Amino acid sequence: DSHVDVLIVGAGPIGLACGIAAQKANLSHIIIEKGCLVNSLYNYPLNMTFFSSSERLEIGDTPFVTTLPKPKRAEALEYYRRINGKFDLNTQLFEEVIGVKKEEGVFIVTTTKRQYTAQYVVVATGFYDIPMLLNIPGEELPKVSHYYRDPHFYANQRVVVVGASNSSVDAALETYRKGAKVTLVIRGPEVGPRVKYWVRPDIENRIALGEIDVYYQSQLIEIKENTVTILTPDGTVKLENDFVLALTGYRPNFDFLRKVGIDIPDESPMIPAHNPQTMETNIPGLYLAGVVCGGLNTHLWFIENSRIHADMIMQHILEQTASYCAN
Ligand code: FAD
Repeated sequence: DSHVDVLIVGAGPIGLACGIAAQKANLSHIIIEKGCLVNSLYNYPLNMTFFSSSERLEIGDTPFVTTLPKPKRAEALEYYRRINGKFDLNTQLFEEVIGVKKEEGVFIVTTTKRQYTAQYVVVATGFYDIPMLLNIPGEELPKVSHYYRDPHFYANQRVVVVGASNSSVDAALETYRKGAKVTLVIRGPEVGPRVKYWVRPDIENRIALGEIDVYYQSQLIEIKENTVTILTPDGTVKLENDFVLALTGYRPNFDFLRKVGIDIPDESPMIPAHNPQTMETNIPGLYLAGVVCGGLNTHLWFIENSRIHADMIMQHILEQTASYCAN
């Protein structure tokens, strides 16, 4: 059937949590995902270890059992796939939501495959689809990537890693260990404060020993086929280079959110309009859930503190249904 009570956009951990919460509230649901199940997690670096311990990634009151406290990407994929199966969620994959509009109190949702109608819509689209660009000449070259997957590819190559956070530090250490000649380019004066506490000594020691080069308070200003140019406090430096990993963060798809009708201020952090008590946006019946709520502030929300959005939303929906019936 193409009509549901709640249509959820995005099958990330929080989209799945919303599906479970809808079920619990006896509301029919559908989750529409443009990629594979938990697409963002699937696209993380292959060897990634979460900074959260397993129990903080749990949804649906279902234990996430791992032998080490922090799960790896592969374990999280297993967990969320089993959750999707256990709750028999109505998840449609490889189908992108391209439009949402409200007509006469009902949402009409258009996807790349068909049209649905829904009483309520939850947007849980995360922020991993759009990288923050450097906006410098040469960024479009095929040797430049804004996602990092696997270190072997970079064996014996000269790699510049841009950024000072977990993604960059993980990529620098892994590629260094597979024989890459790694140079880190960091805009600030030091490695970022949020780098996983057990990883920090490793990167600091590699830098101190000169095994990984670093330019602090520096930025990449040009990329060419075989070189990069870095602006440092001591002037520009040109390095021979094979690959650039520009891991400077990601941002929500503001164009999509605006197209759907959600108000977003122009100034950073561009937090999409929503009531933090109910998660309802400026459009009645349209909700936000998960890390998308933080706008450019992508460190505000994570799984642990945003999984509760699911119950908050269904609670609000039930209250409305109740008051509607009472009238
Ligand atoms: P996502 O998991 O990003 O899910 C959004 C989904 O929506 C995606 O699957 C996407 O494909 C889909 N989508 C987007 N647009 C559309 C559309 N138009 N139509 C259909 N589907 C669409 N958080 C933690 O809590 N702990 C960690 O240890 C942690 N480690 C991280 C490591 C990395 C490298 C990164 C990038 C993030 C990490 N995070 C971590 C943050 C993490 O991404 C989020 O906490 C988690 O993925 C948020 O879940 P979500 O469901 O809100 O969004």
